[in-house]
Amino acid sequence: MSKKLYLGIDMGGTSIKIAVVDAKGLITEETSIKTDLNQSPAKLANDIARQAALLKNYPKIKSIGIGIAGDIDCEKGVVRFSPNLPKWRNVKLKQIIEKLTKKNVFVDNDANTAAIGAFWLDAGGKSDNLICITLGTGVGGGLIFGKKLYRGKTCTAGEIGHITIDSQGHKCNCGNRGCAETYIGANYVARYSVDYLKTHKSKIIDDMTGKDYSKITPKVLYDAALKGDKTSVEIWKYVGEKLGVLLADIVNFINPDTIILCGGVSLAGKFLIDPAQKEMKERSFQTAYKACKLQVSHYTSKLGVVGAAMLAEQ
Ligand SMILES: [Zn+2]
Repeated sequence: MSKKLYLGIDMGGTSIKIAVVDAKGLITEETSIKTDLNQSPAKLANDIARQAALLKNYPKIKSIGIGIAGDIDCEKGVVRFSPNLPKWRNVKLKQIIEKLTKKNVFVDNDANTAAIGAFWLDAGGKSDNLICITLGTGVGGGLIFGKKLYRGKTCTAGEIGHITIDSQGHKCNCGNRGCAETYIGANYVARYSVDYLKTHKSKIIDDMTGKDYSKITPKVLYDAALKGDKTSVEIWKYVGEKLGVLLADIVNFINPDTIILCGGVSLAGKFLIDPAQKEMKERSFQTAYKACKLQVSHYTSKLGVVGAAMLAEQ
């Protein structure tokens, strides 16, 4: 029986996940190493290759896929810049790993690998047009049309976080104003909360943070909401409505059958989804809205590594 197996590598800022994945996107074996930010790219690549080779099915692997945040030349497999590995500039990652492993290597950014992962894990490989939105510190997106990742002319398609939802809004790191990321990215959610708490007291959040609001994260806001904190629920309602504006834009523009949300902010679940869905419904074409399934990924922590492995099928 010849069963196709792929190796996926998800290079995060704290750990590097490595997994063997089968042709249906299921993990059969996995391991990880710590991301040592001080190591040279060559040394880190060596460590990754050595760790991967320890996996039982490693000899049967057809190809290797790597997902990494940042500005990636997906054709040449070059990491131009990555916020996870600040010392990496123009690293020819594909070339380095191919030399070490003698296998075909594919490199892409983590929003694209998350979308491929969501396609396989959340949609079971069965969606015709799926959009994945990564709600982390940054807000990214990946587009899967007809089982294939849509990359655009210069590999930057899917920059959903930088769609303008308020022309007069906050200044964004990208240079634009009012990008969706400046409302629904984790840091902005925290910043908004600190402002909101100035006029809306919350004993639950005060107790959870010891009144040190620099400790506010989406997780704190979610836990507070679970405890019945009205202020947190109101904050999530605000964030959800902003997300809903973006979702309506996507629904009208793409008419997808599935939108998957993943990443830290998405863990807020119904506190985020309910107001988002309401806003999305009010603003989008109704046939398109009804045809689109919106859900939070059940596999947030696995999407990157599975999607990376499945890059070979792209
Ligand atoms: Zn922006």
